[in-house]
Amino acid sequence: MKLVFASNNINKITEIKHQLPPDIELLSLEDIGCLEDIPETADTIEGNAILKANYVTERYGYNCFADDTGLEVDALNGAPGVYSARYAGEDKDADANMDKLLKELEGNSNRAANFKTVIALNLNGAQHLFTGIVNGSITMQKAGDKGFGYDPVFRPEGLEVTFAQISLDEKALLSHRGRAVKQLIYFLKK
Ligand code: IMP
Repeated sequence: MKLVFASNNINKITEIKHQLPPDIELLSLEDIGCLEDIPETADTIEGNAILKANYVTERYGYNCFADDTGLEVDALNGAPGVYSARYAGEDKDADANMDKLLKELEGNSNRAANFKTVIALNLNGAQHLFTGIVNGSITMQKAGDKGFGYDPVFRPEGLEVTFAQISLDEKALLSHRGRAVKQLIYFLKK
């Protein structure tokens, strides 16, 4: 089965391909010739996942899933949340985002945070949502060079290291997206 993942983020595509059964052919936006920026104008993580999946299904006619992720920091009342990508500005710079976050939390001992991923799947005319959450904390400084985004400053519950210090396989097992993808795959296999 051909299934579009509404993303061109090579890190995510690699992470998800890793977990899909071999009979599912995963296509990226580039693979289907969708080169425009899909609007992400909703004010919730769920809303953005739905916007992206619907955009592809309505305009390109494919079964499609889209994800949206946010980092929710307790001491910042859930910010940056749905605005995680653009936290420090429109150029979506991961280092600038982390620097801003560390600065906002300077001197604050409440470091609790969670990553939340919602996947919206459009399959044969029906829509399904899958949510994955991982709790953890924001470190005092960046550590590690694996992964992407906020990985160097996020330490998942139960580990002494950040997401940027563990392998792709380890991350997939316990990450927000890994958990949401696991539900998606379980559903697709049924
Ligand atoms: P998006 O919804 O996947 O575009 O992600 C929103 C923001 O969260 C971006 O700044 C991403 O870099 C960041 N992000 C998404 N997934 C992860 C992750 O697994 N680790 C760290 N940061 C992430």
